[in-house]
Amino acid sequence: MVQYDDILIRYGEMALKGKNRGMFEKQLADNIRRGIHDFPKAKVETAYGRMYVALNGEPYDGVAERIKKIFGITSLSPTKRVENFTLESIQEASLSLMKDIDPAPKTFKVEVKRTNKRFPHRSMEMNHLVGGFILKNMDGIKVDVHQPEVLLKVEIRNEGAFLTCVNVPGFGGLPVGTGGKAMLLLSGGIDSPVAGWLTMKRGMRIEGIHFESPPFTSERARQKVLDLAGIISEYGTGEMRVHMVPFTEIQTEIRQKCPEHYLITIMRRFMMRIAEAIAKKQKALALSTGESLGQVASQTIESMHTINNVTNYPILRPLVTMDKSEIMQIAHKIGTYETSILPFEDCCTIFVPKSPVTRPTVEKASEFERVLDIERLVQDAVERTEVVKASSKKEEQEQFDLF
Ligand code: ATP
Ligand code: MG
Repeated sequence: MVQYDDILIRYGEMALKGKNRGMFEKQLADNIRRGIHDFPKAKVETAYGRMYVALNGEPYDGVAERIKKIFGITSLSPTKRVENFTLESIQEASLSLMKDIDPAPKTFKVEVKRTNKRFPHRSMEMNHLVGGFILKNMDGIKVDVHQPEVLLKVEIRNEGAFLTCVNVPGFGGLPVGTGGKAMLLLSGGIDSPVAGWLTMKRGMRIEGIHFESPPFTSERARQKVLDLAGIISEYGTGEMRVHMVPFTEIQTEIRQKCPEHYLITIMRRFMMRIAEAIAKKQKALALSTGESLGQVASQTIESMHTINNVTNYPILRPLVTMDKSEIMQIAHKIGTYETSILPFEDCCTIFVPKSPVTRPTVEKASEFERVLDIERLVQDAVERTEVVKASSKKEEQEQFDLF
């Protein structure tokens, strides 16, 4: 096994951001630092217009597993550093990298870049010297300059020679923390964690809002939501606050006083009002949900229109055009699916009406809500909301009250 020395980080889109570049780089470096803080010897460094992580003996696989999730990174490469290099030591190191690739490649190409002009061999000449050495010492391998299976890159700089032959794709996007804040309405289902992940992808920080109805919903259902928040936080800053809103009183009151076919519509309107109130307190400028057009009765365009009517805040719906199968694919890819399908009760599944209206109107919803003291109910729920910090590492989850 080759012991890699560094991980080179590439971050394409950020280069387009002109003056903001410094801020983006700093946020990305911070997010990476937080993501790998339990590998204490690994250090994030920015030098010569590039970013890399010096492993200092930490395992490449463990560190890369964390880093490759972080938004803002287009790809990464493990690199071998040869200090005080000679032609021979570069050749040997190149060969050992090539031999380490499993399964063994059939074709390769060498690309040498030399910025250290004191090194006696020019780039073109080095391509042949390194390529020839590999051909001589490895069986069954050929050079293919057009479509090589492996591209071995060698950079000869003053401070050392850097070799890499693996390119691991990242998720792209922008570093979380560079694009303001949204409140994510986070249920325990499949969709909303995916919506949160996609919101984060464009650089937004998110905080979760979860509506729970104890004693009808359990401690385990709450823990599931925190686990989901922990999983998606790994793509950003490594932690996420979740606002736990007590919803039992509101649901009970709606059920007692409003017509059954409008229960879901009215309940959702309360969710939006409460989410907006919490967003204001937390200085977030948008809400985000896992709604997808036409998926269920409460997600027809008429429903969205009626539910949306209680807030002026932008509601981001990253899944709005996606089929369930597309959403599930992402859930698998990002690691939320297995947790999402755990069968714990949700506040919405407890109060399901027999035939919910599919084409609600603002006028009717407002009319039915007239018997409720909306302001008091919202204020009361917000005041009793509890804030919990979710983390990908469970032992770091702590409970604290901000209000
Ligand atoms: P999900 O898989 O995200 O639960 P869903 O397909 O079950 O979505 P709905 O139950 O109609 O759809 O919910 C639509 C959206 O409303 C959810 O994606 C989520 O953003 C929000 N939501 C629903 N229930 C809750 C809850 N208990 N707490 C917070 N947000 C919720
Ligand atoms: Mg749901």
